[in-house]
Amino acid sequence: MKLLDAKPAPFVQLILCDKCGGEKQHQEPGFEEFVCIDHHCGYTTVEDDGKHIQVDLCYACFKEMLGPYWRVKYNWITAIEPNPSKLKT
Ligand SMILES: [Zn+2]
Repeated sequence: MKLLDAKPAPFVQLILCDKCGGEKQHQEPGFEEFVCIDHHCGYTTVEDDGKHIQVDLCYACFKEMLGPYWRVKYNWITAIEPNPSKLKT
């Protein structure tokens, strides 16, 4: 027999953008849009070898910095909208 209980788990209450300093509480719109990079640098990074780096960016800063280079793999909004030209009558 197992008796279940719940224990509190840690969560991110507040996140700050490392570029602009903007912040969001976890229940605020935009909190989920932060991009958090957590990366371990390997030996080919030469001077950064062995470092574990982290950066948190709000979506606006992320887009400003990396938007010119990203590729859109999928757009779920346009994918679910019916295309009238493909509907059979
Ligand atoms: Zn920002």
